[in-house]
Amino acid sequence: PVPILAVVGRPNVGKSTLVNRIIGRREAVVEDVPGVTRDRVSYDANWNGRAFTVVDTGGWNPDARGLAEQIAAQAEIAIGLADAVLFVVDATVGITDTDAAVVKILRASKKNVVLAANKVDDQRTEAEAYGLWNLGLGEPYCVSALHGRGSGDMLDAILAAL
Ligand code: GDP
Ligand code: MG
Repeated sequence: PVPILAVVGRPNVGKSTLVNRIIGRREAVVEDVPGVTRDRVSYDANWNGRAFTVVDTGGWNPDARGLAEQIAAQAEIAIGLADAVLFVVDATVGITDTDAAVVKILRASKKNVVLAANKVDDQRTEAEAYGLWNLGLGEPYCVSALHGRGSGDMLDAILAAL
C-alpha cells in the first residue's frame, strides 16, 4: 500500500499551497479566506521515485464558535489515518494557541512528524523560524510554498518519515 502523509495546521498557514508544491500541480484549493478546503482531500504524489498519498485538511467553518476545537478535531482524524504528518506553521506569525493544541495531538499520536516552517520567502525570515525548535518536533524545515524555496530538503525528510 502507498503510505499516507497528512498535512495539518491552522487555516491560512499555506497547507494547500504546500500540497500543490508537493504534488507538482495546482489542484489543492488556495484561498486568502481561511478554511476554504472543504474536507480532507487526497492527492497522488511522488518524490525521488517513491509514491505516496498526500491528504490536505481543512473543512472547518471559520464563522463557527470553537474554531480551535474544530481544527484540532480535523487534525486528529487526519493524523489517525496517516503514516506520517506534515505539520505546517507560519514562520512569520509563530506559534499560536491553535498550533499548540495540534502539537499536543501530534505528540499523543506518536506518528512521525515533519515540521514545515512556511512563508520563509527569504533568508531574513529564516531567523524567525529558529524559535520553532522549542516545539520539540525536531528540525523546522524552512520553506516557501509560494516560491518553492526549501521544498527539496522537506520532501527528503518526508520520505524518511513515511
Ligand atoms: P491553508 O488555509 O493552510 O490551506 O493556506 P493556503 O494554502 O490556502 O494559503 C493561504 C494564503 O497564504 C494564500 O494567500 C497563499 O498565497 C499564502 N501563502 C501560502 N504559502 C505562502 C508562502 O510560502 N509565502 C507567502 N508569502 N504566502 C504564502
Ligand atoms: Mg487549504
